[in-house]
Amino acid sequence: MSETIFYKIGQGEIPANVVYEDDQVMAFLDMSQVTKGHTLLIPKKAIQDIFAYTDDDAAMVFSRVPKITRAMQKAFPEMTGVNLLSNNGEDAFQSVFHSHIHIIPRYSKEDDGF
Ligand code: ADP
Repeated sequence: MSETIFYKIGQGEIPANVVYEDDQVMAFLDMSQVTKGHTLLIPKKAIQDIFAYTDDDAAMVFSRVPKITRAMQKAFPEMTGVNLLSNNGEDAFQSVFHSHIHIIPRYSKEDDGF
């Protein structure tokens, strides 16, 4: 489980485009950008999915979301909205089995930001 690619990214063993990091979490750009700035937020410790979260894990990860979204809006002033999404379990289309939250910036009208 700890050998997932996201665990290795969190440990700094595999490079990523890091947009935020502290001792417990890391946020980096998704390799396939749904919109400009599409980011993934992960805990650094190995947690497979939301089913495995303790209350403290949830606080650790989700408490970072507002700060990161505000930083994204500062970087992309044309950003007018954001989708927060987390796929948990194969049947929910999770493909990397290290918990992550998709933070997907949205832009006005039909603009995807690119
Ligand atoms: P899905 O593949 O259905 O979106 P997930 O919610 O598990 O399932 O999302 C995994 C995401 O991780 C995908 O959006 C994919 O583009 C991204 N991804 C996979 N490997 C990397 C990587 N090395 N660096 C950045 N993003 C990655």
